[in-house]
Amino acid sequence: MANYDVIIIGAGPGGYVCAIRCAQLGLKTAVVESRDTLGGTCLNVGCIPSKALLHASHQLHEAQHNFAAMGLKGKAPTVDWKQMQAYKQDVIDGNTKGIEFLFKKNKIDWLKGWGSIPEPGKVKVGDEVHEAKNIIVATGSEPSSLPGVEVDEKVVVTSTGALELGKIPKKMVVIGAGVIGLELGSVYSRLGAEVTVVEYLDAITPGMDPEVQKTFQRIMKKQGLKFIMGAAVQKTEATKTQAKVHYKLKKDDSDHVLDADVVLVATGRKPYTDGLGLDALGVEMSPRGQIKTGKDWQTSVKGIYAIGDAIDGPMLAHKAEDEGMAAAEQVAGRHGHVNYGVIPGVIYTWPEVANVGETEETLKKQGRSYKAGKFMFMGNGRAKANFAADGFVKILADKDTDRILGAHIIGPGAGDLIHEICVAMEFGASAEDLAMTCHAHPTYSEAVREAALACGDGPIHS
Ligand code: FAD
Repeated sequence: MANYDVIIIGAGPGGYVCAIRCAQLGLKTAVVESRDTLGGTCLNVGCIPSKALLHASHQLHEAQHNFAAMGLKGKAPTVDWKQMQAYKQDVIDGNTKGIEFLFKKNKIDWLKGWGSIPEPGKVKVGDEVHEAKNIIVATGSEPSSLPGVEVDEKVVVTSTGALELGKIPKKMVVIGAGVIGLELGSVYSRLGAEVTVVEYLDAITPGMDPEVQKTFQRIMKKQGLKFIMGAAVQKTEATKTQAKVHYKLKKDDSDHVLDADVVLVATGRKPYTDGLGLDALGVEMSPRGQIKTGKDWQTSVKGIYAIGDAIDGPMLAHKAEDEGMAAAEQVAGRHGHVNYGVIPGVIYTWPEVANVGETEETLKKQGRSYKAGKFMFMGNGRAKANFAADGFVKILADKDTDRILGAHIIGPGAGDLIHEICVAMEFGASAEDLAMTCHAHPTYSEAVREAALACGDGPIHS
């Protein structure tokens, strides 16, 4: 048994970042993690491996579609799936070992095993009970499924199984047109699979700017993905190598069946808090199974905090990280802060899709008057040179004060460009501030400036 200032349960981006900040603030810190490697969902079966596969499959797409036009002739590469998996694993290993190094550097103890909280101030790992002045729950989330859809992680898979398929499927059905479904659907489509996305709603990526949704769906269709919208999946039937997906079209109640080698269930994730003993402790939960916390990330039980996917808010690694840092500040007696109004969301397809802040819909609901400045990448020289001119930047600003309220980008490097707008929003900048800032030429970021100019007297290149 050991005594700690802080024990964190879960070593995902929320937990490990929290641990490093706690250690930096002089707190004796331990992290409980049951996986064999650190980094949680994100590094092991989420953000990092999916981005590795997106990167590799994008290179293939470039070689097949754009190389010849640039005068790069020759046989297009073929896919060595085993090697691509090995590359992905190398990327995971490099990242997870990096966290292990950071733990050692910051003198953070990794308590290997399953963690539970028998009583406030105590964490049980295996047979050992450790004492902690503060406990932070960072146990993340797990994939959710649908009634009638039984996941075997071989033929009917969640994102976890989809990242390590034995072979590239000929036919893949993706249930759910959200971020994970479209990223992984896009990977397998580029690698040669016939991908059909079945979505209950009438638009993809719910909650996003409708213009972005339409443009995104058009581009994905052009890339070969098929979409069946307004379709309620009833059940799947699977053998060891094949599956059938039964769905009902909402518009006429008609029944249909799709055949697939692999079905990816990408219908969202749910908080994971099993086996912690939270019920017995009386920790308050939301009806959606999230741990309820106050503004200081403390739960209803004093000394027990919670962060990341296990609590309310977008299930994103950087949101978990920010909460991790803020909760560490709180337990160290300082002031932690997360600006939930400025949390970017990114989809790492090609082109990328990114957003931050308000949408036109949320502003309309609030009755707030706004202006929208839009600029098409078609008017951006760099994007044209790089075969990446499909898409646009849209900036929303307050009609009276010109203060930036949100932004929506679909286009090259959107996931990086969005941060210029995040910083501007954090500083309370106006669209004019952005428009008056010199942007290097030729860069994609000029499109952001042009969208800011479009909030005022107008852009130059359209
Ligand atoms: P997690 O990363 O889920 O970590 C929780 C850890 O706690 C796990 O390692 C688990 O083993 C451990 N644990 C749980 N209970 C216990 C216990 N009782 N004892 C010991 N250990 C325990 N987000 C992005 O921002 N960008 C992306 O590009 C992105 N891509 C994604 C792609 C996929 C395919 C998936 C599935 C997710 C993706 N996400 C992405 C979401 C992101 O992975 C999560 O938001 C993030 O990992 C949440 O971090 P967390 O620290 O809350 O929990």
